[in-house]
Amino acid sequence: MSQQGYVATPPYSQSQPGIGLSPPHYGHYGDPSHAGSPPGMMKPAGPLGAAAPGGMLPQGPSPPGPHQFGQNGAHAQGHPPQRFPGPPPVNSATPSYAPYSPSTQSSYPSPASTASVTQLASQLNAMHINSSGMAPPGQGLPGPPAPLFQGLPRPPQPSIMQPGSQVLPPPPTALNGPGSSPLPPSTHRQDGLPGPAPLNAQYQPPPLPGQTLGTGYSPQQAASYGPQMAGGQLSYPGGFPGGPAQMAGPPQLQKKLDPDSIPSPIQVIENDRATRGGQVYATNSRGQVPPLVTTDCVIQDQGNASPRYIRCTTYCFPCTSDMAKQAQIPLAAVIKPFATIPSNETPLYLVNHGENGPVRCNRCKAYMCPFMQFIEGGRRYQCGFCNCVNDVPPFYFQHLDHIGRRLDHYEKPELSLGSYEYVATLDYCRKNKPPNPPAFIFMIDVSYSNIKNGLVKLICEELKTVLEKLPKEEQEETSAIRVGFITYNKVLHFFNVKSNLAQPQMMVVTDVGEVFVPLLDGFLVNYQESQSVIHNLLDQIPEMFADSNENETVFAPVIQAGMEALKAADCPGKLFIFHSSLPTAEAPGKLKNRDDKKLINTDKEKILFQPQTNVYDSLAKDCVAHGCCVTLFLFPSQYVDVASLGLVPQLTGGTLYKYNNFQMHMDSQQFLNDLRNDIEKKIGFDAIMRIRTSTGFRATDFFGGIFMNNTTDVEMAAIDCDKAVTVEFKHDDKLAEDSGALIQCAVLYTTIGGQRRLRIHNLSLNCSSQLADLYKSCETDALINFFAKSAFKAVLHQPLKVIREILVNQTAHMLACYRKNCASPSAASQLILPDSMKILPVYMNCLLKNCVLLSRPEISTDERAYQRQLVMTMGVADSQLFFYPQLLPIHTLDVKSTALPTAIRCSESRLSEEGIFLLANGLNMFLWLGVSSPPELIQGIFNVPSFAHINTDMTTLPEVGNPYSQTLRMIMSIIQQKRPYSMKLTIVKQREQPEMVFRQFLVEDKGLYGGSSYVDFLCCVHKEICQLLN
Ligand SMILES: [Zn+2]
Repeated sequence: MSQQGYVATPPYSQSQPGIGLSPPHYGHYGDPSHAGSPPGMMKPAGPLGAAAPGGMLPQGPSPPGPHQFGQNGAHAQGHPPQRFPGPPPVNSATPSYAPYSPSTQSSYPSPASTASVTQLASQLNAMHINSSGMAPPGQGLPGPPAPLFQGLPRPPQPSIMQPGSQVLPPPPTALNGPGSSPLPPSTHRQDGLPGPAPLNAQYQPPPLPGQTLGTGYSPQQAASYGPQMAGGQLSYPGGFPGGPAQMAGPPQLQKKLDPDSIPSPIQVIENDRATRGGQVYATNSRGQVPPLVTTDCVIQDQGNASPRYIRCTTYCFPCTSDMAKQAQIPLAAVIKPFATIPSNETPLYLVNHGENGPVRCNRCKAYMCPFMQFIEGGRRYQCGFCNCVNDVPPFYFQHLDHIGRRLDHYEKPELSLGSYEYVATLDYCRKNKPPNPPAFIFMIDVSYSNIKNGLVKLICEELKTVLEKLPKEEQEETSAIRVGFITYNKVLHFFNVKSNLAQPQMMVVTDVGEVFVPLLDGFLVNYQESQSVIHNLLDQIPEMFADSNENETVFAPVIQAGMEALKAADCPGKLFIFHSSLPTAEAPGKLKNRDDKKLINTDKEKILFQPQTNVYDSLAKDCVAHGCCVTLFLFPSQYVDVASLGLVPQLTGGTLYKYNNFQMHMDSQQFLNDLRNDIEKKIGFDAIMRIRTSTGFRATDFFGGIFMNNTTDVEMAAIDCDKAVTVEFKHDDKLAEDSGALIQCAVLYTTIGGQRRLRIHNLSLNCSSQLADLYKSCETDALINFFAKSAFKAVLHQPLKVIREILVNQTAHMLACYRKNCASPSAASQLILPDSMKILPVYMNCLLKNCVLLSRPEISTDERAYQRQLVMTMGVADSQLFFYPQLLPIHTLDVKSTALPTAIRCSESRLSEEGIFLLANGLNMFLWLGVSSPPELIQGIFNVPSFAHINTDMTTLPEVGNPYSQTLRMIMSIIQQKRPYSMKLTIVKQREQPEMVFRQFLVEDKGLYGGSSYVDFLCCVHKEICQLLN
């Protein structure tokens, strides 16, 4: 939102008045006079978009049939079934698959006859891989299910069979290991290189002497993999411990597969860095695939939203829904509307049309954007979304140049940029009046344990500092945000901290059944004005409750109180709740311990993820309606029912932080970093997001920290810079290759300064009737984000086993469709992956092994509920790191370089006794020390003489004045930067107990608590593909 930091870049820097040179053209904050309206300008006929009451985003008649799609409901005929139909009946078997029509012609032989297999079969039947004009089943494909990774005995097929000598020009990206040829310097996935290059990666294991798979590996043996497992016990190999022999597959296969020869996430990441890192990425062409999230580059908005704001699962949509069904690639966008933009990129311009407000299409209400086509000398424009021809409002008229472009094209952000903001008029405000600035309310659990362990004192001390850093508008000296304070155990204490008081005053509300706000004046105050009273209060709180023996707490009334206080003050805001225990006191939202491990691995497991009472659901709804965002800091020492307590934070766009068994000396730094970061982060309040699309497709499902009262308006009490909403699209008609697929995301919100704004992000995608184009334009990181969110949403309704099976099947299906339709003919036994999805299997396996989807009693229910909630709001970069952690060798550190060392694959086989490794996943950080770590490094990092001397009971590294220490700590801070959660550091010595925890993050290996290795999973997927192709 800053107007500073603009870096003039061509073409904008070149004689384009108004951009760069004179930013005021794009309006100052809240200066309506700036619009430069001609005299006698007319107001638009009728209210702008007929603003709905209550500050709703004005919604016009949306493209046809807005109610055709329920948010979770069944879809109209001709649309693919919802992936996770919900909520389904409790019984697992066929009803869960009801949407997969049993009448669909079966293209595949049913594998077997157990219940789970039947389910799978009916799903597979619905996959349409051989339908609609494609070759009949089996055509062109060699006979029976072929062995996995068939090696030498196959007939020679030089272009594929010889990894070292690929003859296809340019070479397809092979799944190379060290023993084969290096990847070509440029990857094909993003640049859409012309030419006949097959955009696929082909797997061919290096021939191993003396070993063949061609015989002795019968389909029966192979059937021990995957969902076809008898009895439905395993949904994928290694899904559960107890049957390792089955999961590992035939031993000879294990020997066959060299991990170096299967696709490496590290190699994909490094290739993209090598080809696109450090460059300027201009968003000037439709459907171009951006650099990976792991690649650093400078993004220049030239008409499409930066990938920092929107990333898509594919940048080329299939023209028809039949094609979409055929490929089963999710069509989705991951939108992070308030993403942080680095200081070397242009912040969003603010457009102010004064009382005219934004220019919008009369029919679909899309906002003026680069996709509007001006015609008739500039007097009218055709909407790119609904094709309606609109009159240009007189105040907005401008002549066209010889190519039909407005003369002011480069002066107006909304004509030339993908992202920008509008100052909203009163039509966009609740009750048609300007909003009040938001307020922050700090609500501290002062029950016995929190006082005793020093937490209350820590919070109060810290607040004195962080309140100095309340977020403010760039041009303002002080923050407009007001603050208030409440403490609670089983009653609530409100504090009057009015600036003219000598002492703060406490008011106790004991009626937690119907919470009211006992004071208005003096509760929400300006921090600067009331600073001394507030400090006085924060000093007193720990002592005030020092003798309290109260163990019981309430929770729902706390949220209720905060929300009522904001409502009474008529402002949006955020509650910061610091809470420790299961709220067992008699009050609404009272919870009991219902952590029942017996439910795990049953159809009732989903209950563990659902809230215990509907109190929190309706509370969340009220909070969203009043712009009240709830952020929860949890300090549990036992089960606290995160599934219930976390619901309001999740649905209100807040954040849940959890510190298990909080110990002051170990955990306070992590907590304080989180608190500081959360208070200071950029955030918009009282937000409504609306996704508009060009004709032929529409947004059908939404995942994130959101609330939806209807099928189109995504309501958020607040949305901050780290939160993303994932949107799924479905066809409702044909898409045309020439016009492409256009997406406009509009977020109406209130700024931290109390201004109503609209933030607009536009993105244009390609459309194609060629499946190869679709596969070429996929982005695996975004796909995994989508799969994770849709699966984690389904967890509430579906048995986990079913969800895992669907994920495995869809993975196989997408790859089989590619193999069948896009890859060059080759032996059926070969695993052929599209270049853009090379590492989809490894990432998918990581998702399947995540504790949310892994039904294991060893993992706490609260931890699973917590991770489920975190992922639901993650952006693509965060989900990528979360599912595939970053593992860096530290012992090879170049202390003279500021660059991060190249990561290695997350597998134990990559570690070495002589090495030191740093692992980070966005929540945790581990420093793993091999038993033979170099003493000079140990000295350098820890300032102790040997491995044995290292104290693992530390969560920050000592500041040792030498290059090793400095470089390592710098690396850790670089990794931490830009991440929404402070990562707690754990020091792990090889062969000591805590290593067990660390090993869970070596995600290419077989999981400690189940979950197959990458190699096993790839075999499983390959097997599934072979079956699909048969
Ligand atoms: Zn329109």
